[in-house]
Amino acid sequence: MKTSVYADLTDVHVIGIPRALLQYRYGVLWQTFFEQIGKSVVYSGETDKGVVDAGIARSVDETCLASKIFMGHVVSLIGRCDAVFVPCYASCDMRRGFCTKFQSMTDLVRNTFRTETRVISLLVENAGDAKESQAAYVELGQRLGASHKEAKRAYKDALRAQRNADEQRARNQEEVLKLMEEFRRVVESDPSKNEQAPLSILVVAHPYIVFDQYMAGDIIRSLRQLGCTVVYACDTDHAKAYKASLDFSSTMPWIINRELIGSILMLKDQLDGIVLISAFPCGPDSMTDDAIMRCIQGVPILNLMIDAQTGTAGVQTRLESFIDILQFQRRGGYIRD
Ligand code: SF4
Repeated sequence: MKTSVYADLTDVHVIGIPRALLQYRYGVLWQTFFEQIGKSVVYSGETDKGVVDAGIARSVDETCLASKIFMGHVVSLIGRCDAVFVPCYASCDMRRGFCTKFQSMTDLVRNTFRTETRVISLLVENAGDAKESQAAYVELGQRLGASHKEAKRAYKDALRAQRNADEQRARNQEEVLKLMEEFRRVVESDPSKNEQAPLSILVVAHPYIVFDQYMAGDIIRSLRQLGCTVVYACDTDHAKAYKASLDFSSTMPWIINRELIGSILMLKDQLDGIVLISAFPCGPDSMTDDAIMRCIQGVPILNLMIDAQTGTAGVQTRLESFIDILQFQRRGGYIRD
């Protein structure tokens, strides 16, 4: 029997979505869901210095840069929407948990912005359980004024849209990898073309870091200017990457880190180098990046950390040195027969 849900959010018409954290993983689902039940969605703008400074002012020092930036995006939505959407994603099982920031962000935002903006949320205890996820979204839809049937249909459409978007990203990645493979074959049959073939670099970072212009935009642009083809680990098919990660560790608890590591294991033979990017001070990355540096063999790795003070200043020189080494390696390396 369905429990009746009190429609206490029917006066929320415009929903603000911070362009940060899980928006980069579930944004298509969220936007489609809200629009399908008749709501309007507004996003915060791209991250810039103003957003970062506003986020820092509303955060404690110890939180990671990605969380501070999230707070800055909430600030920029104040006055532009009826409520800001901050969902709470907990975990799936011991090997598929989310970072605790995704669990605590709803309470953090509610308490920090108590008098400034309304917050709407939902709790997904187990993102891997389709029924549980659906129930959480359907309940929120009903609270926003949709009928059970409308909310259920909206969720199914939203889930399909998100899956389509994820599949498209994975297909795009496969196309780039195929192109890289063709270059590799050309170089093998004609080594004089070695210099012209771009280096293939896997960028390993949470999607809200790698696709955020403020955090990783300069790094990605520099890699491209240095003649590299960039592949993103977070675009690899999530289910396949998760499965591959089990060969690396049976106990690692964070799902996104697992997917990134699984992607490395799946793609490493096709790469010239790997660039890890993390936001200071990230708990999960501090453990997994260290494990990657020690355990992934056969492909050079550059480990970059971004913090609120320095941003990407100083990173350029390290990138140039890394790419120099990869190019030299391709020409035969330091050790020759
Ligand atoms: S995984 Fe790291 S960067 Fe992401 S929210 Fe958690 S602590 Fe911050």
